[in-house]
Amino acid sequence: MAPNTGRPARTRQRRGEGQWALGYREPLNPNERSKKDDAPLNVRARIENIYAHRGFDAIDPGDLRGRFRWYGLYTQRKPGIDGGRTATLEPEELDDEYFMLRVRVDGGALTTQQLAVIGEVSQVHARDTADITDRQNIQYHWIRIEDMPAVWEKLEGAGLTTMEACGDSPRVILGSPVAGIAADEVIDGTPAIEEIRRRYVGDPAFANLPRKFKTAVSGLPDVAHEIHDVAFIGVVHPEHGPGFDVWVGGGLSTNPMIGQRLGAWVPLDEVPDVWAGVVSVFRDYGYRRLRSRARIKFLVKDWGAERFREVLENEYLGRALLDGPAPEVPERPVDHVGVHRQRDGRYYVGAAPVAGRTSGTDLVAVAKAAERAGSGRVRLTPQQKLVVLDVPETEIEGLRAELAELGLQTDPTPWRRGVMACTGIEFCKLAIVETKARAQELVADLERRLADIQAGVDTPVSVHLNGCPNSCARIQTADIGLKGQIVTDANGDQVEGFQVHLGGGLGLDAGFGRKLRGHKVTSAELTDYVERVVRNYVAGRADGERFAQ
Ligand code: SF4
Repeated sequence: MAPNTGRPARTRQRRGEGQWALGYREPLNPNERSKKDDAPLNVRARIENIYAHRGFDAIDPGDLRGRFRWYGLYTQRKPGIDGGRTATLEPEELDDEYFMLRVRVDGGALTTQQLAVIGEVSQVHARDTADITDRQNIQYHWIRIEDMPAVWEKLEGAGLTTMEACGDSPRVILGSPVAGIAADEVIDGTPAIEEIRRRYVGDPAFANLPRKFKTAVSGLPDVAHEIHDVAFIGVVHPEHGPGFDVWVGGGLSTNPMIGQRLGAWVPLDEVPDVWAGVVSVFRDYGYRRLRSRARIKFLVKDWGAERFREVLENEYLGRALLDGPAPEVPERPVDHVGVHRQRDGRYYVGAAPVAGRTSGTDLVAVAKAAERAGSGRVRLTPQQKLVVLDVPETEIEGLRAELAELGLQTDPTPWRRGVMACTGIEFCKLAIVETKARAQELVADLERRLADIQAGVDTPVSVHLNGCPNSCARIQTADIGLKGQIVTDANGDQVEGFQVHLGGGLGLDAGFGRKLRGHKVTSAELTDYVERVVRNYVAGRADGERFAQ
């Protein structure tokens, strides 16, 4: 509900944006209708009591393609439907009877026991699939609705959840994979992440937002904070010490926007309240008429940071926030790959699966290897990587060897290190092209072809592949961003390919790559193209110059 501001709700304007705070309470599109008809979190009981017993065909369509998301469930794409048909088919023609299931891992933080449970669930229920997403989630495939009660029992028994892993809700909170151990950390954001999750995930007051809501909290600029709905990034206030700088309104997809600083400094223990205030502004003032304008970035763009802060302070927090400085920006992207000393003298060891692809079997093996090395903690990263924490110096080489045997290299080539890919046509119903397998091929090809210049590349070259115009793999922020689409090949045939964006980045290079209009490559030409671009960059750059420069 909107807070009582003492102002009458404004009368309905012609073609308003559907903001609740301005009196638009009647749903203006089918998604809003579905959420009003039945609170999405209620679907859990129906899954456990009805659908798991009666099977896929018994599922109500409104649950199947709507409310299931609040528990991390999406139908996956029926195999064998090519990308050219994605936009022409009805949703039910694309739906397979198996599900993708996302496990939210707030802050990417797992114990080795939790990692082992995630792996075991995959082995039993998900055909051994387990991708690490660039939002620090684990994504399973091939889940049957009949198995969901058992899946939840196992995951929740280990303290894990799928609640609000998807849907118009506060999704997984990104956090630094090295929170609490990094030597250069400004402040450990973990208590704030845990408190937001404890208080608000599953809270009905925040379970019907205009659209998805992405949060990052980190004492280091290692969580792509510029492209979040809200982000709290560590900064030292000259009088008050370490705390957080607040950013709102970032996001990618088809209208990419860099978040705006509110210019406010927030101490650690106030982060959950300020977070709840920002989400409340979004819930009440966010645009609900058109799904394409329902992210908070559109509201922030229209209002500007100053008005947003005023509304937050006056209508929701009831107090002014302290002004504060901007955080430092990293010179180059931070991905935590390799061996690094922690501030307690032990080490963390980051490994690079290709484009986040792992398996349940591999994750169980990583958990065991980490434990043998004396560690009880692992982290998933926003770059689709995996980090083992708290490793004594004497155990490093043994752990690295075990990880390498699993294909998880701790000293990867720049191409293996810099590649990310979204789910793509293998499982995603919106996809137009293949991505994960393409990324695997690309890395193998580049490792062979570019071996001669590899030693001279001192910064990873990021290559991000998306299966459609959405930007799940953050293509606009990559050195080479590849947006899947159907393109025309040299023979005039319509084939899978990519629109190229060049020179995007975050940190010092924050900005979105240039979409080069004529720059389209077929999937078959992809390796040749990337090789050419990288060779030109290496040949033409000055020492230490990053790609985006
Ligand atoms: Fe699916 Fe498109 Fe997102 Fe890839 S970018 S996972 S194809 S919606």
